[in-house]
Amino acid sequence: MAGTAARSDQDLCKVLDNGFVKLVDFLGGDGRAVESARVSFGSVSKGEAQDRKLIAYLLEHGHLSPFEHSVFQFHIKCPIFVARQWMRHRIASYNEISARYTEVHDEFYFPSEFRGQDRSNRQGSLPSAGLDQERMKAVYDRAIKAAYSAYKELLDAGAAREMARMVLPVAQYTQFYWSINARSLLNFINLRADSHAQWEIRRYAEAIQDVFSAKMPWTWEAWKGLNEKKAS
Ligand SMILES: Cc1cc2nc3c(=O)[nH]c(=O)nc-3n(C[C@H](O)[C@H](O)[C@H](O)COP(=O)(O)OP(=O)(O)OC[C@H]3O[C@@H](n4cnc5c(N)ncnc54)[C@H](O)[C@@H]3O)c2cc1C
Repeated sequence: MAGTAARSDQDLCKVLDNGFVKLVDFLGGDGRAVESARVSFGSVSKGEAQDRKLIAYLLEHGHLSPFEHSVFQFHIKCPIFVARQWMRHRIASYNEISARYTEVHDEFYFPSEFRGQDRSNRQGSLPSAGLDQERMKAVYDRAIKAAYSAYKELLDAGAAREMARMVLPVAQYTQFYWSINARSLLNFINLRADSHAQWEIRRYAEAIQDVFSAKMPWTWEAWKGLNEKKAS
């Protein structure tokens, strides 16, 4: 129930071709949610069965503040277009690498397969057998290389890093630290591990879901059960 530091490479999960999710630190747990909820009437744990029941009750009835006392800190590496979606989640803290301070490395997301436009979900995409993958990959590769070459040329010609970076595409990898409480993280997982979210951010949300379920298994089980009940 006490805070658990987690800083080894065991906590690093590779995502996409060059990205990762790394749990840097963790504070709290299922027990912290139970203690926080029961503090109002001066009681703590009542044993696993009762504690799990309380967690399920809190989640089902939207009493979510007890879950705010557990905090996950992650180090994330993802393409900029994924980070743009990610940072819409405001109830969290972010610190990102600065391309004004440091020169950007030649590191871009290269999709293993292009997807076609989904006709029913206008935001979505679908695996599509008819696509000319080789041609698309060649076009993509050419564009990425041209952009990075322009970036380097601007730097060599004396442009400031903060200006040279303007030619870089959103497939460029970025890194950030992300601290988020368990309540807000459940919201993130719900929205971003969902089939409506873009395939690439879903891979990250799934890696984060694995971390969540390992660190707060009672909460995760209850949350999953609740979602299954709602869906049926
Ligand atoms: C599949 C998908 C498609 C999307 N498409 C688009 C799109 O086309 N365009 C676009 O702009 N965004 C889009 N978004 C982003 C989406 O609208 C949310 O901004 C994002 O998912 C963050 O969710 P959130 O606000 O619940 O999270 P957080 O910002 O972490 O907020 C958590 C919760 O806190 C509360 N809260 C936070 N801020 C406020 C506030 N200012 N006022 C009141 N309550 C607040 C809300 O209850 C909120 O649910 C999309 C998201 C998904 C998952």
